[in-house]
Amino acid sequence: MVPTGVRALPDDRVGARASDAGATDPIAPSLEAAPLAAIVDLVRSGRARTRPQLAEVTGLSRKIVTQRVEQACEGGLLREAGFAPSEGGRQARLLEFNRDAGRVFAVVVGASEMRVGVADLAGTLLDVTHEEWSVETGPDSTMARVKAHLDALAAGHVVDRPWGIGIGLPGPVEIGSARLIDPAIMPGWDGFSARAWLREHYDAPVWVDNDVNLMAVGEWAFGDGDRSHDMLFIKAGTGIGSAFISRGRVLHGQRGAAGDIGHIHVTDDADAVCRCGQTGCLEAVAGGWSLLVEATARAEASPILARAIAERGRVELGDIGAAARAEDPIVRDLVLRRATALGAVAANLVTFTNPGELVIGGGVLRAGAELIERIATVVRARSTRMASEELTIRAASLDQLEGVMGAAYLAAESLLAPSALARWVDEGSPFGHAAALQRHRAAFV
Ligand SMILES: [Zn+2]
Repeated sequence: MVPTGVRALPDDRVGARASDAGATDPIAPSLEAAPLAAIVDLVRSGRARTRPQLAEVTGLSRKIVTQRVEQACEGGLLREAGFAPSEGGRQARLLEFNRDAGRVFAVVVGASEMRVGVADLAGTLLDVTHEEWSVETGPDSTMARVKAHLDALAAGHVVDRPWGIGIGLPGPVEIGSARLIDPAIMPGWDGFSARAWLREHYDAPVWVDNDVNLMAVGEWAFGDGDRSHDMLFIKAGTGIGSAFISRGRVLHGQRGAAGDIGHIHVTDDADAVCRCGQTGCLEAVAGGWSLLVEATARAEASPILARAIAERGRVELGDIGAAARAEDPIVRDLVLRRATALGAVAANLVTFTNPGELVIGGGVLRAGAELIERIATVVRARSTRMASEELTIRAASLDQLEGVMGAAYLAAESLLAPSALARWVDEGSPFGHAAALQRHRAAFV
């Protein structure tokens, strides 16, 4: 599931010139200015795995390479990893990036749940906590809850201090300021800075993004798909959102609002009242919350939903899934109508962006495979031929963990982007550089 060479970008290859790093990081340190950072980066990206390869790729003398590798090993960032296959002469010792040199924290707060994790420097989750949680409780109680989970995980994994933190929130995040801007469903959060809050408590660099963007990043980095493909990711949970990754980069738009499709206008039906206060929004006709509202209203006609109301006083998405699997005709109708509406919007997005993969994630996946099939049918029928002919349409593959995985990946990759690495590599850890580091962001996320 999790690749070992996490930066296995399509153009990765042993023997590439160091200057090729500029293709993914426009302000990569030059070899002359930051040879240690360049060497760590070459090993981490898999472009050089041995001292002779490093000498060849960098053009540095073997003596200088040996000194720098020694420094990186002493600092804990590189480690020996056995021997390279013999090519006749003496076997060269393999080097690898030490993903255990530090830990990052990863957080995704959705509208109705949160996932909090601890990960290594490859962005691989080591542990994760899940809790049903309403974001409507506001930023103070939500962040206090996040911190309680982080502290418990840190204690369990003997993490004194995180090297960096990635966090996703279910609203529009302004990419420059890292603040939430007018989030429709998050009372009390407008202008809130999760970065400032977490910095105050952990003194680590914090990278913030919209939760759907991080779900797409997690699925792209660790999921079933092909990383060389452009990916359109649609989250259909309580709310609806989308993200687009093209050539390995998340589309943020001018400020970070790109992809927020939940409140685009899809119908003139005045009865389609949305929780944002408008009418006719996509969420009002296809969102998980509207599904629950309508399922509750029609629960009497469905034995499974009626039982949920009798037992718990409310219907949850899990009940919808159970009813869908039992081929309950009421629920099937509700789900398929939503899939059709979502498919129509997805078809437009596919026509506009021409992705290689369309991935559907979020809580509505619990409603079963028929939902994806219906979305796929509508997308294929309504998008242009060239845009859809080679398109793969599938469900997210990481069991709802893609968001927290994406948050971990964002933090790890941003810490280790060559331009960021150059700031702290001589000291062996990023401590004390939080303010400067969080201005860096891995080029492709
Ligand atoms: Zn709306």
